Amino acid sequence: MSTEALRIVWIYPDLLSTYGDRGNLLILARRAADRGIPAETYEVRSDQRMPHTADIYLIGGGEDGPQSLAAQRLIADGGLHQAVAQGAAVLAICAGYQLMGHSFFAKGAKCPGLGLLDITSDRGETRAVGELRGDIDPRLGLPALTGFENHGGRTHLGAHAAPLARVTAGIGNDGQTEGAWAGKILGTYSHGPALARNPAIADLLLRWATGADRLSPLDDTWADRLRNERLAAASPA
Ligand code: GLN
Repeated sequence: MSTEALRIVWIYPDLLSTYGDRGNLLILARRAADRGIPAETYEVRSDQRMPHTADIYLIGGGEDGPQSLAAQRLIADGGLHQAVAQGAAVLAICAGYQLMGHSFFAKGAKCPGLGLLDITSDRGETRAVGELRGDIDPRLGLPALTGFENHGGRTHLGAHAAPLARVTAGIGNDGQTEGAWAGKILGTYSHGPALARNPAIADLLLRWATGADRLSPLDDTWADRLRNERLAAASPA
C-alpha cells in the first residue's frame, strides 16, 4: 500500500448532516488508524470546490431543500464526478443516496441527480420511518445490515445498480430491496452514522480505497451485540 495518507472527504456537512452523519467520518478515520493506515479527513462545505483527488467520499442525509441544493452544487462543481471516474469510493446515505441517482423528488418537484448510480427516486405514499434490516448482497461478504430509516422517497434500481440488501424489516427502496451499489459506490437508507452499526461497511470502503484484500480484525463486540439484538427483535409492524 502507498505510504500516502488515505483522504476521506465529508461532502457538504453544512447541508447534509441531519442525523449525526459526522460519525461515519470519525469511524472510517479511526478504523484506518487502528490498522496503522494514515488517514486525513476533510469537511468540504457547499461554498467550497469539491476536491477530486480524495479516496473516499461521504455524503449524508437531509431534508428536501438542502438535498436539492446539494445536488445542484455537486452537478455544477463536477469534482465528485471526476473523483468517481478516477476510482474513488463513495458512501451515500439517504438524501445523499437519492441524489446519486438520475433524479429524485424534493418539495414535490422532480430534481436532477448526479447520475453516478443507476437509480431513480420518486415520492412514496407514506413516510418510511423506523427500524431497517436486510441481508446484504452475498458478493459483498458482509453481515446483515441494521439501521434506522426516515425518508419519504422510494427508489427504483436500473440494470447497472445492484441492491445493497434484501429487506427483512422496514422499507428501504421499496419494501423489497434496500440501498444500491455499483463499482465502489454504495448507497443506503440506513441513516446517520450507519457505519457505527455496520462497521463491516466501513471496512469494505477502506478495502476498496486501499486495494487491500483484508484488514486486520478489530474488536467489534459492541456493534456485534447491537446487531444481534436488533436482528432478534420483533419486526416492526
Ligand atoms: N428528503 C429525502 C426523503 O424524504 C431524504 C430524507 C433523508 O435524508 N432522511 O426521501
